[in-house]
Amino acid sequence: MADTRAISAATIAVTAGRPDRAPGQPVNTPPVLSSTYSAGGEVPYARAGNPTWSALEDVLAALEGPGCRALTFASGMAAISAVVDLVPVGGLVVAPRMVYSGTRALLTESAGAGRIRLREVTPGQLPDSVDGAAMVWVETPTNPMLDLIDIGATVSAARGQALVVVDSTFATPLGQHPLDHGADIVVHSATKYLSGHSDVLLGTALTRDAELLDRLIRKRTLGGGIPGPMEAWLALRGLRTLPLRWERACANAAEIAGRARGHRAVARVRYPGLAEHPGHGLAVRQMTAFGAIVGIELRDAEAAEQVAADTRLWLHATSLGGVESTLERRRRWAEESPDVPEGLLRLSVGIEDVEDLWADLSDALDRAMPPARTR
Ligand code: PLP
Repeated sequence: MADTRAISAATIAVTAGRPDRAPGQPVNTPPVLSSTYSAGGEVPYARAGNPTWSALEDVLAALEGPGCRALTFASGMAAISAVVDLVPVGGLVVAPRMVYSGTRALLTESAGAGRIRLREVTPGQLPDSVDGAAMVWVETPTNPMLDLIDIGATVSAARGQALVVVDSTFATPLGQHPLDHGADIVVHSATKYLSGHSDVLLGTALTRDAELLDRLIRKRTLGGGIPGPMEAWLALRGLRTLPLRWERACANAAEIAGRARGHRAVARVRYPGLAEHPGHGLAVRQMTAFGAIVGIELRDAEAAEQVAADTRLWLHATSLGGVESTLERRRRWAEESPDVPEGLLRLSVGIEDVEDLWADLSDALDRAMPPARTR
């Protein structure tokens, strides 16, 4: 596709990845359910390609920016595994200590098995800690702490010595463009906002580098972490409304973050859109939207669990990025970093009416307040 950035994302999401316009052609790319193809074509077997993935990949690539190519995978973790597998045996990976727990477990276990070496640092230290790295893993904003990492500074520090990979799941291609800041590869869990309806698992890796793309295609074909055609079709259908969903979810999140700040049960709100967030200035420079994930810290695990169990509209569930608002206490997972506060609730703010959402959440917060002391 030509310079797609000249067209707005709202238009790209609707128009890219369609069948050719010709009399009798369908408007939508259908799910193509075929495990093999007649000999002589470009794709011999369905582990190497599928027209439904290709349509989805065209839209994802166009949203990420000009000259970009996308590969879809069976899940975000399948994409991340393929990317981490680019590191040579014994190569050093530098990563923030508090990233998505699945990524953290993958890196830790790969290091434990001797496959890679791992240097874990705080998000702020990342740009100054890249010496000797084969790969620098950036996740920004981080899950679940919502820390910001400076992509441009990390790329400058890596100076072409290390591959810089950015997990941009929380930002989506509408909230930041890591490749424009010099990153080599972007990954997203497309399970989240890109698909948007909590009905599919899918991942994507995107790059402008033809050699990296070829290596990733090979990893996907041989590793077998390919998306199912039905999943790709559902994701494509969901992606059509990403700009609408994203705009509403971000607006709702900003409102919820602002109001939660004033609630007595809440010790701290983590949201990059708040002026007091330590990464707010960087978010303004690096992002085009602050996203729809909000962290609220309650006094302890018990209070956080109580709120999670007590809301009626907000669903107590893991994952994020669906149209429905969900919340969970991240430390309920053994794999979550011990540096994450016990009382942290991660809110994935959906697209419902914000007054309804706040009424439900604030009621649950009120009920989680310690009883007033009587003399
Ligand atoms: N990256 C981030 C930031 C995530 O939050 C997740 C899942 O929650 C993943 C990657 C993994 O994605 P998936 O669950 O699609 O494998």
